[in-house]
Amino acid sequence: NIITIHMAEPMVHTVIYRYDVNNTAITLVKQAKKEDRLVVIDPGHGGKEVGAVYNGVYEKNLNLDIALTVQEILESRGINTYIIREDDSYVGLYERAYIANALNASWFVSIHNNALENNSSVNGSMVFYHSASTQGKALASVILNRLTKDLGMPDRGIRVQNEYIVLQGTAMPSALVEVAFMSGDIDFTLLCTAQFRAKAAEAIANGIMDFIGR
Ligand code: ZN
Repeated sequence: NIITIHMAEPMVHTVIYRYDVNNTAITLVKQAKKEDRLVVIDPGHGGKEVGAVYNGVYEKNLNLDIALTVQEILESRGINTYIIREDDSYVGLYERAYIANALNASWFVSIHNNALENNSSVNGSMVFYHSASTQGKALASVILNRLTKDLGMPDRGIRVQNEYIVLQGTAMPSALVEVAFMSGDIDFTLLCTAQFRAKAAEAIANGIMDFIGR
């Protein structure tokens, strides 16, 4: 099978064979300039990678719902964004970081929800960053600040996490948001309402705006 695509402007492309799902993803990328101030939004998990599951609710779906709203809010405020997946696609962790780097993005924000087995009393937000990035730490801090102040989430702190591929592999300031605990009795009820997810998205978008200064 041959597919030919003609583009009227300069593009770069990535070809990634996803060995674990046996398909090949070709991504055409228009590289951002620094002044484009591109924010990459990364909805955690997707496809066969479901994330945490509680009472039939999949983390991957909560993440996507919140992330799409974050994108919508940022775009409505004139911020350039790229979202790693806009549907239930599987995207590998290295691929996520690779695409963000290929895009020449300025910031990277991954959106997840937390879970703690056999502990329903822990609720709240936390945000991870890589210890090598002081900008990543600052980004994590402003996002958590919005989630706790605007949304009233219990403050579970910003934390170093050097093992996460999307934090380790991204060349730009990055943060991984754990919006709420799917395992938490209070948080789970909140996460199941569209209103909470929309407010969480607004808090994250406001945090990003605080950081990028517009
Ligand atoms: Zn997750």
